[in-house]
Amino acid sequence: MLFIDSHCHLHDSRIISDIPGIEDRAKIANVQYMVSCATMEENFELTAQLSNKFDSILPCFGIHPWFADRISGQWKEKLEHYLLAGPSGIGETGLDFTNKTCDRDMQIKVFEHHLMLARQLERPINIHIRNAWDTFIHILKKTGKLKVPGLIHSYSGSADMVPIFENNGLYISFSGSVTNPKAKKVVNALKRVSKEKFVLETDTPDIYPYLPEPRDTRLNEPKNLPAIAQIASTRIGMDVEEFSRHAYDNSLTVFDSILQGKKDR
Ligand SMILES: [Zn+2]
Repeated sequence: MLFIDSHCHLHDSRIISDIPGIEDRAKIANVQYMVSCATMEENFELTAQLSNKFDSILPCFGIHPWFADRISGQWKEKLEHYLLAGPSGIGETGLDFTNKTCDRDMQIKVFEHHLMLARQLERPINIHIRNAWDTFIHILKKTGKLKVPGLIHSYSGSADMVPIFENNGLYISFSGSVTNPKAKKVVNALKRVSKEKFVLETDTPDIYPYLPEPRDTRLNEPKNLPAIAQIASTRIGMDVEEFSRHAYDNSLTVFDSILQGKKDR
């Protein structure tokens, strides 16, 4: 069984000094590729460097909704510069209407620009949505179906909305939140999603999964992805090999342009 971590943050200062170790342990765990998402202009360069150094790291560039009010006057130019410099996706971008985050109108403006770029440059997009489902669906109706598939990371929406997103060219990504024994909503969403439309992620270094063995660290890493697949497949009653094969094939589809681009370099 092979795995692709469809959403993580390897630039994060809590883990950056240990990337060779994280990469080694991922390889041993059969995690073949890791999609590492930048979150603000300040970590675009580090994300690009990680991708240049490691064949297994696929980069995405974007402004996370938590940081939409920290953009510089040149953010659009910088984003486009990094996207055009090499094979890459767009994100992490999106909408987060939980209390801790910044101005909603600003988030919408920044997110809509990312969606426009995804269409224009034909890049996969890595989307974060929290408590903003109505606004997101409204925006999707305006922008129309994506040309290149994208994903909604660590899905927290209802099962009922899954078909709406599938029909708009979006894959649904499940994180360690699906391993929480109390998680019912996310397991229902996983039951609802088509076999051809789900992927898996760790959101490293966050969302540490609920694993049977005692944890030695608070920081998550891509090597935990097979354990997430094991628990998630059990919770929906699917054979783990079949489950993992679908997740892997689906991720290959979403990130195909980055993989091909990296191989051709
Ligand atoms: Zn993330």
